[in-house]
Amino acid sequence: MPDPDLVLATKIATVHQRLGDVYGIRAWHKQAEPIDELVATILSQNTSDVNTHRSFQALKQAYPDWAQAMKAPQHELIEVIRSGGLANQKGPRIQNTLLQIYAEQGDFDLNWLEDVPVNEARAWLTQFKGVGNKTASILLLFCFNRPAFAVDTHVQRVSRRLGLAPANASADTVMHVLEDYAAPAWYYPLHINFIRHGRALCKARKPQCESCTLGDICDWYQENSRPVDQ
Ligand code: SF4
Repeated sequence: MPDPDLVLATKIATVHQRLGDVYGIRAWHKQAEPIDELVATILSQNTSDVNTHRSFQALKQAYPDWAQAMKAPQHELIEVIRSGGLANQKGPRIQNTLLQIYAEQGDFDLNWLEDVPVNEARAWLTQFKGVGNKTASILLLFCFNRPAFAVDTHVQRVSRRLGLAPANASADTVMHVLEDYAAPAWYYPLHINFIRHGRALCKARKPQCESCTLGDICDWYQENSRPVDQ
């Protein structure tokens, strides 16, 4: 009887290698200050990358420093981010997050998160309303390359179809599986490649399995490509 832990670890290694062959292994580099990433990920909830970028740029243009955004009249800030969608929900969340951070530490510098254990950093970040494990992991992974696996809808869907996690697994369950069985050095490129694969082939409605490099190890494909019994 093969060791199930070893089987899963080997499968994830194969997924990482094959997706890397197709899409490349993207090297990590710091893209943003953590406070910017935190605000941007709150803005990104339930909207496209284009809308997120547009509303984030509008916010930075209206309030060049975060203290200004924190003190701005709420209705004004909501109008500034209107193009990002769900502005009535996101505006107060952003201001409350900024207020809490400023009240706690007197500035908005979150670079200290680089030096505390991931679980502590995640617990601190998820205390803010609207900040879940996905947002926390994005910040920790993208800003510091900390070993926190960010699971968005693409990562969740592709992982479940492959059988890395149960077919109905929550995003948090998928996160724990990937953190337990993937090497930390793979977290960033594998996160990027799950998203690329989810957009290119493993689409929500019609996955293009015939063109996929993972068909032979994909539970969903193996199940759905079987000939119908006569
Ligand atoms: S074989 Fe199909 S379902 Fe499986 S990962 Fe590839 S595209 Fe997705």
